[in-house]
Amino acid sequence: MATKEFLWNADGHRILLTVNKAVVDVSPSICPHGATEDAPCYHEGINGCIVNHFVNVYGLEINSGVVPASASIEIAWAMSGSRWDADLADVRIIPMEDPNFQEWLDSQKADS
Ligand SMILES: [Zn+2]
Repeated sequence: MATKEFLWNADGHRILLTVNKAVVDVSPSICPHGATEDAPCYHEGINGCIVNHFVNVYGLEINSGVVPASASIEIAWAMSGSRWDADLADVRIIPMEDPNFQEWLDSQKADS
């Protein structure tokens, strides 16, 4: 399961889903850090939030979980690859409500 391979950041990022006829549009909604330079999601290559950037460019392609049918979704995210070149970075998101993610979150709490 993909959720195990990443260190997920559950820090309050949200995405917005809007259904337009049969097409679901996804857009970044909230970056809790406001793209500040010391934020975990700040990326040198784009001078901003790497999560919002990947949601803008790739939409739900980077989602690895089950998306609930609601407009505003709180997500966890994980980045691998370059912190300096966004083209060499990889970001995955997963809805906080995803059952597999909840399982992972519980296992993290159990460890600490
Ligand atoms: Zn962010």
